[in-house]
Amino acid sequence: MSDLLAPGATLEKLFTGTVWGEGPVWMPESSRLRWSDIPNDRILEFDAATGQTAVYREAVEFTNGRTLDLAGNVVQCSHGRRSVETEIDGVPHTLVDHWGEHRLNSPNDVVVASDGTIWFTDPSYGIVTGTIEGHDGDEEYGGCFVFRFDPASGILSPVIVDRIAPNGLAFSPDESILYVSDTCDDDRARIWAYDVSVATGTVFEGREFARPRPGISDGFRIDVEGRLWTSASDAVHVYAPDGQELLAIPVPEPIANVCFGGDNGNDLYVTATTSLYRIRTTTLSARRAGAAD
Ligand code: MG
Repeated sequence: MSDLLAPGATLEKLFTGTVWGEGPVWMPESSRLRWSDIPNDRILEFDAATGQTAVYREAVEFTNGRTLDLAGNVVQCSHGRRSVETEIDGVPHTLVDHWGEHRLNSPNDVVVASDGTIWFTDPSYGIVTGTIEGHDGDEEYGGCFVFRFDPASGILSPVIVDRIAPNGLAFSPDESILYVSDTCDDDRARIWAYDVSVATGTVFEGREFARPRPGISDGFRIDVEGRLWTSASDAVHVYAPDGQELLAIPVPEPIANVCFGGDNGNDLYVTATTSLYRIRTTTLSARRAGAAD
C-alpha cells in the first residue's frame, strides 16, 4: 500500500443517492462535508460525527464547486445564476455575475487565494445542457476564461483565456503555480500548470502537467507537499509536483471531485457520480489556516 494512505485504509461509501455529486468542501466548524447534487438542484451535507447525510438546501440554482473564504464562509459557483456567490447565515449573496456588460457563462469551480482574491473557472456547461445542470443561454463574452475577482475592489479580471473548457483549479502550496484542468473532450483533456503571481494577479504561460486517464480530471485538490489529487473515471489519481503519477485509488464509479477534510484534515472525501466516499490519507490539504479543503 502506498505510504500516502493510512495503514489499513479502505475506501468507505458514506452515502448513495446523488445523480451527479460535485463541489465538495469540508466545513471544520460543523465537521460536515457539503457538496452539490447538480441535476437534482440541491446541496447535501454529510455529518462526520453521526455518519448521517441530509439535504441542506434545495432549488439552489445548480450550485457546483465551492470552497471557504478567509473568514470561513462558503464561496460557491452557481450555474443557474451564472455567478459566484457567498453564503452568509445560510443565505446566498452574489459576489460577481458579470464581466463588464456581459453575463458570465456558468462558473464551475473556485478557489480563494491567501490574499482573499477569488479565482474561478467559467466554462459553458451550465448554459448548453438544457435544464440538467442549469438554464440554456449564450456565451455572452465569447469565450470560457479563468477569472480573478477581488472582493475588496469589486474588480473582475480574466487571467487565463487560452483554455477551451477550464474546470477544476487549485494553487500549489506557495501559490506560485495555478493548476487548471481543461475538460474540453476526452482526447484533449489535460491538467495545465500556470506560473502565477497572486500579489499582482498575473498568470504566465501554461504548460501541460498531467493527463489523468481514463476519463477526465474534473476537480482536484493539492496537499501540503504539493501533490495533486484528482478525479478521473476509474480512480483518484495522485501526481507529484513534477507530474509523475504516484498512486491511483480505485473508485467504482466516475469521480467528479475530491477534497480533504475530517477533524484531523487527513481524510480524502470523493464525490463520485451517485455516491460520497472517504479514505484516510497520511497527508493534509495545502490550504492555509488549518481549514482542510
Ligand atoms: Mg467541475
